[in-house]
Amino acid sequence: MVSSLVSSLVSSLVWGLSMATACRSTPAGTPASAVVDTEQSSSPSPAAEAAPARTKASHGAHRVSTLTITVLSTTRAPVGAGEWGFAALVEADGHEILFDTGAKPRTVLENADALGVALDSIPTVVLSHHHDDHVGGLLTLRKAVAERAPAALATVHVAEGMWAPRHVEIDGRTKEVNAMLTIRPAFEATGGTFVTHAQPAEIQPGVWVTGPVPRVHPERNWNTTRRIETSEGWIEDMLPESQALVIDTDDGLVVLSGCGHAGIVNIVTHARQVIRRAPIRGAVGGFHLHRATAEHVQWTGQRLHEVELQDFYGAHCTGAKAVQHFGTPGVLSPTGRAVELGVGERFELAGHQ
Ligand SMILES: [Zn+2]
Ligand SMILES: [Zn+2]
Repeated sequence: MVSSLVSSLVSSLVWGLSMATACRSTPAGTPASAVVDTEQSSSPSPAAEAAPARTKASHGAHRVSTLTITVLSTTRAPVGAGEWGFAALVEADGHEILFDTGAKPRTVLENADALGVALDSIPTVVLSHHHDDHVGGLLTLRKAVAERAPAALATVHVAEGMWAPRHVEIDGRTKEVNAMLTIRPAFEATGGTFVTHAQPAEIQPGVWVTGPVPRVHPERNWNTTRRIETSEGWIEDMLPESQALVIDTDDGLVVLSGCGHAGIVNIVTHARQVIRRAPIRGAVGGFHLHRATAEHVQWTGQRLHEVELQDFYGAHCTGAKAVQHFGTPGVLSPTGRAVELGVGERFELAGHQ
């Protein structure tokens, strides 16, 4: 439920975002993350060794006809507050999902209020990965609704690898930086539940979490100074739990990404393998191309052209140069376009009926 205060998608593009994180994008290959069978596993092992993607045998038949994705946290904010983070409300044939929860504890709570978004009616949360700029609002949001609406924001879908310890060295001392390890018991104390996916799963009719995304294409866009604990010891953290939400619509697949650490090309490749080999109708959210080389952005555009991407709606860590390049006539599908989303702005599919 979004009020008329929500600003419609801007017709003019806003360039010139100032981006600042310690991430890099290089065209080196990365190992594929393993996909295992236990859907509810909470194993801390991210299983970073190479393994083939497992293709789901039975596909959901439902196609979503009406879809709205409203941004609740990103840098640019024509309504409410902006921040380095991401969150969006998904409404797919009337089912509501909160995708990511922003960076600061209260940003999404206050932006939802400013936009007239009722949090009490949203049962489901999907978290894209463990980084603070995506999970920072979870506890505040849950606590704000738990008493009056116990089922609201109570079920959180994450991908395997979310619970692995992460370390960074600061001044010669090791610091744990996976906030989810402390958020988990506090969230569960409110009556909430986590569902950890090792494989793609249809969480609502026509709406899928990808689970861990196999890294078959050379996309590297994370902070290489962080380490993750695996069954083989501590290795560079390549965010094995980084997942996207994919909505299977009448017009093709729509991919919603938080930070896109698995890489947009890996994400759409995985989605087309395990859900449906359809054109990509929309790619929405953060795709972490803000530090990418011009060569890598160009390569990405070519791959997105191959999957007939229609609408690229970038936010958060996507970066102006990627939006600008994808918006160049002919880079995406013949009628493709690319814009930057701000808080309160939407991606919409109205359906055919
Ligand atoms: Zn991230
Ligand atoms: Zn991020």
